[in-house]
Amino acid sequence: MWDVIVIGAGPAGLSAASVVARAGLACMCIDRLGPGGQLINFGPLHDTPDLPAGTTGPDLVASLSDTMLEAGAELAVAEVGALRRDGEGWVVATDDGEHRARGVIIATGLTQGALGIDGEAGFEGRGLSFCAACDGPLYAGQDVIVAGTDHWAMQEAIELAQVAARVTMVHSGGPVFGAHERVATATALGNIDMVEGRIVALDGEDGLQSVTIARDSGRDVLPARAVFVYTQRIPAVSFARGSLDLDGMGHIMADEDLRLPGRTLFAAGDVRARAPQRIASAIADGERAGHAAVAELKTS
Ligand SMILES: Cc1cc2nc3c(=O)[nH]c(=O)nc-3n(C[C@H](O)[C@H](O)[C@H](O)COP(=O)(O)OP(=O)(O)OC[C@H]3O[C@@H](n4cnc5c(N)ncnc54)[C@H](O)[C@@H]3O)c2cc1C
Repeated sequence: MWDVIVIGAGPAGLSAASVVARAGLACMCIDRLGPGGQLINFGPLHDTPDLPAGTTGPDLVASLSDTMLEAGAELAVAEVGALRRDGEGWVVATDDGEHRARGVIIATGLTQGALGIDGEAGFEGRGLSFCAACDGPLYAGQDVIVAGTDHWAMQEAIELAQVAARVTMVHSGGPVFGAHERVATATALGNIDMVEGRIVALDGEDGLQSVTIARDSGRDVLPARAVFVYTQRIPAVSFARGSLDLDGMGHIMADEDLRLPGRTLFAAGDVRARAPQRIASAIADGERAGHAAVAELKTS
């Protein structure tokens, strides 16, 4: 029986587990991929004023994981498939067995992007990508597309524009939320086009060759060797759907202490409603949820 199980080892989960273990509680952090979450995909980080300039995603993962392990928490690699109540505590069912805990912190972030069109899975590794830092160099001098509307998609477009011949950002309209500075940078680069529309088909025999975009004015077919996908990233809560209060987008509703009322259950990071979707906020969230779990378990 663990005091606390943290589900998800991104910046929120690693930070939560550090706080819990440092308080002397038995804590295990479970992730289906290993430590890091989104961060394993990033080169130099942005909007992280507390970190030295040039800190990369893997640098931060190493530091957060070392801190957690030094605090005494354990890390397990397994996919959580179900979470259910067990008396006063919880059962966390994974593809590697069941674990029991008095409290659970959910820090599972958002799912990988998706286009939601037929045949897209067949292009994974053949032009469909989710990581500009990892795959961008493969498309040096070629035309690529970014599907997404938020500031991180715009940032990926800017990074791809350093290596690709031309980047077309296909977005769903309106100003790109929170990205005014990034829009200015993109415009100055001169090789990023912004297109309002929706990708409806991918084509190519030997890897991706073209993409069909549905627009108000009709359909356009653009040549492209890769699509970097940041659309349809939804909260990763399928293992607990039906037993959590979710907002309209599927984010977990939690109170100010990131507690789900009346239960020893907490939510931290991008998975919770109104999360700013930034690393610094995810770390702060993890620490807050960790402290709330410690306070609740030490008095119960
Ligand atoms: C393209 C892109 C670039 C970004 N760049 C920056 C940046 O430069 N600076 C910045 O501040 N923010 C950036 N962000 C935002 C930042 O990455 C997120 O806000 C942050 O990673 C959220 O942390 P998290 O711990 O909540 O979730 P995540 O980092 O998503 O971690 C969640 C973890 O939960 C695990 N998990 C999910 N479901 C299960 C399950 N069922 N069982 C077990 N494990 C599970 C996942 O494997 C993952 O490791 C970027 C985001 C994107 C998409």
